[in-house]
Amino acid sequence: MSEFLLYNTLSRQVEPFGPADGVRVRMYTCGPTVYNPAHLGNFRTFLFEDLLRRSLALRGWSVEQVMNLTDVDDKIIKRANERGLTIREVTDPVVDIFHTHRTYLRIQPAEHYPRATDYIAQMITLVERLIAKGVAYQAEDRSVYFAIDKFPEYGRLSRLDTREIKAGARVSQDEYTKDNAQDFALWKAAKEEDERVEAAWESPWGRGRPGWHLECSAMAMDILGETIDLHAGGVDLIFPHHEDEIAQSEAATGRVFARCWCHGEFLLVDSAKMAKRVGNVWGVAELQEEGLDGAAARHFMFGTHYRQQLNLSSDALEASRKAVRRVGDLAARLATAKGAPSALSAVAVEAEADVRAALANDLNAPQALSALFIFVNRANALLDQGGDDVAALERARSAFAVIDGVLDLVPGPIAVDDALATRVAGLIEDRKAARARRDFGESDRIRAELAAEGIVLEDGPEGTTWKRT
Ligand code: AMP
Ligand code: ZN
Repeated sequence: MSEFLLYNTLSRQVEPFGPADGVRVRMYTCGPTVYNPAHLGNFRTFLFEDLLRRSLALRGWSVEQVMNLTDVDDKIIKRANERGLTIREVTDPVVDIFHTHRTYLRIQPAEHYPRATDYIAQMITLVERLIAKGVAYQAEDRSVYFAIDKFPEYGRLSRLDTREIKAGARVSQDEYTKDNAQDFALWKAAKEEDERVEAAWESPWGRGRPGWHLECSAMAMDILGETIDLHAGGVDLIFPHHEDEIAQSEAATGRVFARCWCHGEFLLVDSAKMAKRVGNVWGVAELQEEGLDGAAARHFMFGTHYRQQLNLSSDALEASRKAVRRVGDLAARLATAKGAPSALSAVAVEAEADVRAALANDLNAPQALSALFIFVNRANALLDQGGDDVAALERARSAFAVIDGVLDLVPGPIAVDDALATRVAGLIEDRKAARARRDFGESDRIRAELAAEGIVLEDGPEGTTWKRT
């Protein structure tokens, strides 16, 4: 079998990757904080992880993926207090929206979606182990911290030498400065506002709640085991989040936590990171309002390598809308053709091999896309010629199925909403009436009004029908 290459943030190198047991890839992906619907920046990362899991499966391994749902953190607690709700009441609807949007983007479901608040017992056990090993301590504020100077490997992932280490200095916020390394909170003593929104649990150190970093270590090791094959997330998680996950896990077990670390680059808007606090977020809801198919969003995201930044723009989304239409047209042609020229077989074999090679080369999706579109062009040209080689047609269908099984770019049928259908039907009736009274000016005006919206009318023996251009 051929090599599967991945860039490993730990070594800063592209390396051959494979699961430790040769069969199943145990993969942990940091999921959304469910206080707001995830934005397209978050989804760029989740789409990169979808591409990763599908490419691993294409290579012949089975995949067991965990994506956690962070349902307790500073932001959620703040929101719950503002609205007079419990944290569950804040997060439950956001979890539902996440899955709806995930489905729209055709992101395959992970095998597990653990919620942090369902793993409090495992988190407490992990903190107990760390205290027993002497790498964690309860401070006078009653919270428990990880002592980074007791774990000499601290900083390996993020190459900490470029940062200032503030051993003994403590930080309790879930998200904190990227410049200093400090003792971070594993378990936070409960405050009044935590109790009010049901974000506090009993522990050996008094009532409290877990720190964000602790969640991932506890859930990853509980579900996937102490050493996992692959851990992924966005580049902003390298420090401190992933550094802290490694420290907590490896200090407790004495084993390697994750064999390979993969990080996806940011989605930008006008060259700034898409982020809630910058105020430049686009969500799936906006794409749906534009009538954009999830396939087009995938095409847009996969057009740039996951380790490069990508700028979101309407023009690029429009180009993707057109591109996936061509993929859909070929899919339909392959499905309905009765035969093809024999030359289609070699074209299909080459396309499939090129896509497999591109994806196995550190998930080179842009190259996979270009191989797909070469296939689209060549296959269309050959199908235009006509032919009766059924085996060649079958080979093309199977190559297409393999390629699209990973990229998933065939758009669904164009959704026509009821309001539009009713309005067009009304205008068709008005136009019929105008023509009956020989008011051709009005009839032309109605036709032009619809044409401006991309709708053409076709007069036939059974009356007037319409379609989108
Ligand atoms: P959060 O919900 O903030 O914990 O983020 C969920 C995931 O989205 C993490 O893996 C982040 O690294 C990733 N992420 C956040 N913002 C962006 C962005 N603008 N582009 C790509 N990934 C992002
Ligand atoms: Zn995490």
